Amino acid sequence: MQLLKDRIQQDGIVMEGNVLKVDSFLNHQMDVTLFNEIGKEFARRFAGCGVNKILTVEASGIGIACITAQHFNVPVVFAKKSKTKNIAGEVYTSRVVSYTHGREYDIMVSKRFLGPADRVLLIDDFLANGAALLGLAEIVEASGATLVGAGIVIEKGFQPGGKLVRDRGIRVESLAVIASMDEKNGITFA
Ligand code: 5GP
Repeated sequence: MQLLKDRIQQDGIVMEGNVLKVDSFLNHQMDVTLFNEIGKEFARRFAGCGVNKILTVEASGIGIACITAQHFNVPVVFAKKSKTKNIAGEVYTSRVVSYTHGREYDIMVSKRFLGPADRVLLIDDFLANGAALLGLAEIVEASGATLVGAGIVIEKGFQPGGKLVRDRGIRVESLAVIASMDEKNGITFA
């Protein structure tokens, strides 16, 4: 998606530890007009797949998921990050290692909001090592819902997540795939 790539080139900042900072338009301040184009593109790519629910993880996935959901006319469920153990039986849970913070946390979704009748599209801002997506996929599987695929805004193609998730048979559509990035030479796209 050229509009997105141009914006990443213009405003993205390459940080230490293979982190791309895009907080001026994606995950702190949010450019909603850009989000709308992102949502439109996800809707185009997953048209005819019967998506009836969008699943993301708090916090930075929520804004993108909500604008995307308007193009599918479906509800959004976001997995909550929890520090406390929840009562077994009421929620689906999965353990995820955070890319940006390096620590483990549990994500959870109430069993009331996901079930066998659902055809789920996962949405997230970044794909790096794949932990967040695989955690969400595990929750979808546990619920008996059908996983249609995953829509990712920025995939860091030089990290293993994309291959890992696709090797599980999950369809991943990334709107910008970064082939390489470093502080000196900047960003190149795949
Ligand atoms: P993964 O679980 O695929 O390793 O990482 C995905 C999650 O880590 C995303 O939800 C995102 O919040 C965060 N993340 C991974 N890489 C980056 C990055 O380069 N920049 C930012 N801002 N967040 C990232």
